[in-house]
Amino acid sequence: MSSDNKVDVIVVGAGPSGLSCAYTLAKKGVEVLVIERGSYPGAKNMFGGIFFSPWIEKLFPEFVNEAPWQRFVAKRRISLLAKENDVSLEFKPNAFNTPPYNHSFIVKRSEVDQWFAKKVEAAGANIVCEYNVKDFLYENDRVIGITSGGDEDSLLANVVVCAEGANTLLSEKSGLRSKITPNRRSVAVKENIRLPRNIIEDRFGLEGKQGAAYEFFGSSVEGLLGNGFIYTNVDSLSVGVGFSIDDHIQKMEGKNPNDILEQFKNHPSVAPLLKGGETAEYMSHMIPCDNFDRLPTLYKGGLLLVGDAAGLVNASFFHEGVNLAMASGVFAAETIIEALAKKDFSAQTLSQYKQRLDKSFVMQDLKQYRNFISFLHSHKQFLNEYPALLSDILSDYFTVSDKPKGTIKKEILGKIQKKVGFGRLSRDLLGALRNLV
Ligand SMILES: Cc1cc2nc3c(=O)[nH]c(=O)nc-3n(C[C@H](O)[C@H](O)[C@H](O)COP(=O)(O)OP(=O)(O)OC[C@H]3O[C@@H](n4cnc5c(N)ncnc54)[C@H](O)[C@@H]3O)c2cc1C
Repeated sequence: MSSDNKVDVIVVGAGPSGLSCAYTLAKKGVEVLVIERGSYPGAKNMFGGIFFSPWIEKLFPEFVNEAPWQRFVAKRRISLLAKENDVSLEFKPNAFNTPPYNHSFIVKRSEVDQWFAKKVEAAGANIVCEYNVKDFLYENDRVIGITSGGDEDSLLANVVVCAEGANTLLSEKSGLRSKITPNRRSVAVKENIRLPRNIIEDRFGLEGKQGAAYEFFGSSVEGLLGNGFIYTNVDSLSVGVGFSIDDHIQKMEGKNPNDILEQFKNHPSVAPLLKGGETAEYMSHMIPCDNFDRLPTLYKGGLLLVGDAAGLVNASFFHEGVNLAMASGVFAAETIIEALAKKDFSAQTLSQYKQRLDKSFVMQDLKQYRNFISFLHSHKQFLNEYPALLSDILSDYFTVSDKPKGTIKKEILGKIQKKVGFGRLSRDLLGALRNLV
């Protein structure tokens, strides 16, 4: 750092977005300082989770052989839970078993973020931990640095990259985004449940480094807008639920997120998978659901928002966050490199960042699924009524009796007509095809 306490770039937050930005800058010889409030990168970070790796592999082609991932995702299962049953779709293509393993790895963030941070330091960036940035410093409306509160604790930079994650206190202070409201966030609670490796592999049908990702919709979160999940680590399971805070406030008076997790763990389709396990860790975190139409402004003079701070999460069935975060970090870095060459850190120059995002899968995917959440909000039947009906009619269809099959079929059609009506069902299914898939 130069004697006047100024660096080229300050990155606030050592998650995937901040680290990918810092790495891309440091590789080009830019002086970059990453500031993290946790005691080490990853200390405060929690996710499901599947680390979707296309972007980390662009930065580190050695990722698959070197990084501390737990298992690759060989098998995915999507289940619709009814009160006591489930209807599940499982797929395990053989191609997922060989490199690049469908670019999907089950990881513990505390392990992968530390590995990533070491690479960033090796590239020449400095990372300072246990420093909580409280605000930005301004010259007129342009951001020129950060502060932890005290007069002595200020640092200046040509550009600050805000990679603070879903708890967007700083981005709000900058005026780029409005205050968090319950309809713009989900909350997730998760446990790491220890189980011997051989039991996990037998129970989930896995061999070697194969892993399983199970996601549960319908009554997994008691009809709230959200879902439950189980991901297999080497010798533990990541088990959690996540749901819209807004929905929770409206419907679940008196029930806290932990009650919903407990209910999920006790569901007859879930409990046998967890049997004998011991809770080793408990975590909770927010997930942005800003949605394409409510994204914050992503830049102003001297400041860029990346990753969750920018609301860049694909909250559809895909649950992708880390790869969007990393792509945004790289696009921010590329924009800053151009700005440094021009010595121009104005909003106009930094607007190239948004253009890069617009041209990429990041904005195109967010746009594609812009109605996903609002559709489910207005069609709650997909969260409770339809999973129950599907489970019910499949039970009828496969129940063995001396009734002729033609009679069973007629009864099922009658049940659908009585409970839903074919007109409404076909309208809903068309809507689902347009907005959810
Ligand atoms: C339960 C759950 C499950 C998820 N599952 C998946 C999944 O399976 N796959 C997927 O791709 N994504 C998943 N996500 C989303 C994914 O975790 C995020 O999109 C991703 O971590 C965003 O990265 P980021 O770098 O923007 O923010 P983060 O990873 O949140 O990092 C932000 C960093 O900034 C630091 N920080 C914050 N404020 C300050 C401050 N004032 N001063 C200094 N440091 C600060 C934090 O300590 C943290 O290290 C999940 C999220 C949750 C909560």
